[in-house]
Amino acid sequence: MQKIQLLDQKTINKIAAGEVVESPKSVVKELTENAMDAGASTVTVEIREGGTSYIRVTDNGCGIPKDQVKEAFLRHSTSKLSQIEDLEHIFTMGFRGEALASIAAVAQVEMTTKTKDEEMGTLIQISGGEVKTIQDVACTEGTTVVVQNLFYNVPARRKFLKKPATESSYVSDLMNKLALGHPEMSFCYINNGASILHTSGNGDGRASVFYVYGKEAANAMMEISYAKGDYRVTGLIGKPELSRGNRNYENLFINGRFIKNSIVSSAVEDAYKTRIMIGKFPVYVLNLEVDPSLVDVNVHPAKLEVRFKNDDEVYDFFYDAISSAFSGQVLIPRANLEK
Ligand code: ADP
Ligand code: MG
Repeated sequence: MQKIQLLDQKTINKIAAGEVVESPKSVVKELTENAMDAGASTVTVEIREGGTSYIRVTDNGCGIPKDQVKEAFLRHSTSKLSQIEDLEHIFTMGFRGEALASIAAVAQVEMTTKTKDEEMGTLIQISGGEVKTIQDVACTEGTTVVVQNLFYNVPARRKFLKKPATESSYVSDLMNKLALGHPEMSFCYINNGASILHTSGNGDGRASVFYVYGKEAANAMMEISYAKGDYRVTGLIGKPELSRGNRNYENLFINGRFIKNSIVSSAVEDAYKTRIMIGKFPVYVLNLEVDPSLVDVNVHPAKLEVRFKNDDEVYDFFYDAISSAFSGQVLIPRANLEK
């Protein structure tokens, strides 16, 4: 055995980056979430070669003030939380302060950003965690991040990247989910120069379903709005005849975040049970609004899973919500959300 020693910061960052940045898709996810947290109403995502050589995310959000641009790239630096108790009230997508540091540790990154109060924006170039340039630049309000040659300095990781077509299909899937969950935002997605998705951002959930799943699906969705106690769900659920052969059309968002959760998925499926054939699964886009203190989002670095404080309550809530949508009596008891 070798002597025990503390790793240097660069090595620590590269190792830690592995948890947040797995693939081009996770880079796009983190950057679009930052755009949303910055209050953007439009986000443009462009990738080339599945995102392995080039990813660009542009937003019209609040930008980063010049004197904070370097800090944004430090590990565990965030403007979204200052103490652990803040997690109980958090409504932002990010809070771990890891994404920019992680991405910059394993790729060549260039960011231009400008707040509305600044005359000139800032350009910063970082490769492998090292700041190469930081200077003033003329640009519009908002932020653009370009990420090139992902894992150029982590050959072991680069080897595990799939074919560009496969990586880009993961990114497309993510863009579809974002469009479904956020009809209030306009997303533009360009893959190898071709415009793949362009949503209007007019807030119409059915229009988002139309963009992503097509006309037939959009027409076969029923609106749902149900609230009870601390929970409120809105969205669209597919008529039974729309059901599909896999769970890929089950879309759950919790306070705006796409989440995979087996409790919710079984509650919804159980409510559909008598209406669809065995082996078929419902199509839905459901947005759960819940007090952040009732759901722990800090379970996994990529934040794809949550833990509910009370699983049974959540199961019953979703089962009742779907059942009552089917029985045509959409009850909306007074929501308790603001207490
Ligand atoms: P987190 O999102 O968890 O705070 P990140 O590493 O993703 O951590 O970002 C660090 C900080 O940089 C954020 O807290 C935010 O203040 C700032 N930031 C990142 N991206 C943007 C953006 N697109 N617009 C404005 N500010 C941003
Ligand atoms: Mg973030």
